Amino acid sequence: MTIELPCSGCGQQLRVRDEDAGRQARCPQCGAVTSVPLRSPQGFGTPIPPPGTPSSSGPINPYSSPPSFAGESPYQSPRPNYGTPHRGTTVLVLGILGVTCCFICAPIAWIMGNNDMKAINNGTMDPTGKTTTQVGMILGIIGTLLGGCGIIVQVLALIAQNR
Ligand SMILES: [Zn+2]
Repeated sequence: MTIELPCSGCGQQLRVRDEDAGRQARCPQCGAVTSVPLRSPQGFGTPIPPPGTPSSSGPINPYSSPPSFAGESPYQSPRPNYGTPHRGTTVLVLGILGVTCCFICAPIAWIMGNNDMKAINNGTMDPTGKTTTQVGMILGIIGTLLGGCGIIVQVLALIAQNR
């Protein structure tokens, strides 16, 4: 191992043996005498990191990990937090069926959609299905009203026939 240090006279890099640390080195070019430091830069650098890295990484980890969690939370934690997955597709299908063919499905879509909308607004259900649930609920309301009107008309027609 050698110590490199600039000459105090001409600035040339002098290579000195480790054994000469703390002594005077004479420059071969200009003859100026330069004092050699006791410890090489490597000797200074290596002892410091071992106590430094655990102590510095220790405080850093508790502080650095919460920001990383906070940074991920908008993307990852909302989904686990909403334990209940949304039923938007089911509500929508029931609503469409209620409007088009199966009247019984309409009030189910209405009730399911109404409950799910409350859950989504409370934050207990996956909010990604909000629009689908809303559309399904509206279709359920329409289907219920249409079906209700149809039943009333049919009942009235039956009454009229029986008279
Ligand atoms: Zn020199």
